[in-house]
Amino acid sequence: MKDYVLVTGGTGYIGSHTVIELLNNGYDVVIVDNLCNSKALVVDRIEKIARKRPIFVELDVRDEKKLNEVFSNYNITSVIHFAGLKAVGESVEKPQLYYDNNIGSTEILLKVMRAHETKNIVFSSSATVYGNPKRVPIYEEDPVGEVTNPYAETKVKIEFMLKDLAKGDPTMNIAILRYFNPIGAHQSGLIGEDPNGIPNNIMPYITQVAIGKLPYLHVFGNDYKTKDGTGIRDYIHVVDLAKGHVATLKKLATNPGLVIYNLGTGVGTSVLELVNAFIAANGVDIPYKIEARRPGDIDTCYANCDKAYKEMGWKAIYNMVDCCKDSWNWQKHNPKGYGE
Ligand code: NAD
Ligand code: UDP
Repeated sequence: MKDYVLVTGGTGYIGSHTVIELLNNGYDVVIVDNLCNSKALVVDRIEKIARKRPIFVELDVRDEKKLNEVFSNYNITSVIHFAGLKAVGESVEKPQLYYDNNIGSTEILLKVMRAHETKNIVFSSSATVYGNPKRVPIYEEDPVGEVTNPYAETKVKIEFMLKDLAKGDPTMNIAILRYFNPIGAHQSGLIGEDPNGIPNNIMPYITQVAIGKLPYLHVFGNDYKTKDGTGIRDYIHVVDLAKGHVATLKKLATNPGLVIYNLGTGVGTSVLELVNAFIAANGVDIPYKIEARRPGDIDTCYANCDKAYKEMGWKAIYNMVDCCKDSWNWQKHNPKGYGE
């Protein structure tokens, strides 16, 4: 029986890019997704790029019966768990939805994995678990947990759940990946980030200003303790991030138990630097207005990524110009996202 990697949330932004890297590296993939924040059309786009079609099953990860069927039908040896809700503002308004969806789905997934003796899992965590970091760059051993919104809280709680699981069952191999700020898109322009409604994140906002869908960028605050007063983040190309998952699966194949890695670039970029990089890379204007801070935002957040390089040989290779060009290439060719 063939071995499969199960990718939950595999039609989403990071998931779809990761599925391509997995297929390119010879893995067979089953995607499960309930399409609450993505489109089935993504599977066709993945096939077009990778020249191989992943298996796709539409389901909610909390649907234990259906998930069990997937594990019975395919020999799932590893899981990459992207499925989850990720809008910070929405999580403040609807905390129960976030606890139920994000934590609930992980509990069911782990239960079904146990029933089928699947031992390897990669979990999509986030730099948000560090809260307002005491130092930058942030190292994996830095404190986690002082967070200010339910979305971040779900990531912290799932991390603790996975750490306890690793302690209780030494046969499990668990990777917690803390992503910094993914931007960019596949170079083909066939897949990319397609948020519902007004984007929360900065890069899709910028590309929608560039395409003329939104009039200008709201820059949230220029009184932070940073070089130009705007917030500093660690922006990582989504294809680099996707490749990080292939490296992680190879790591898990060596039976390491629990591993935790930051996936970022190690470089901090301010909002104004990002806007100027986008303008320079693409020759399009991005009008912006400086406005009040967004509640909950922090000054500066960027990663130290030495551990991922030392232990997995992975590091980000794309630069800010690549990120800006690929984000724009995606938006330009898909002005309405997947809604075309
Ligand atoms: P996304 O919304 O594009 O992808 C998530 C996918 O999960 C979507 O396709 C959605 O339909 C699916 N999904 C959600 N709940 C589900 C459920 N209960 N059952 C089945 N499918 C479900 O988001 P993304 O940006 O690709 O993020 C993927 C993961 O990475 C998330 O867990 C997110 O929290 C985490 N993450 C994202 C970022 C970021 O900035 N994009 C940063 C750090 C961590
Ligand atoms: N930001 C902004 N305008 C926007 C969206 C974001 O100025 O429309 C800023 C935000 O204050 C932060 C940075 O851009 O400094 C990255 O925000 P994003 O929401 O993309 O990611 P976060 O780091 O909050 O997860």
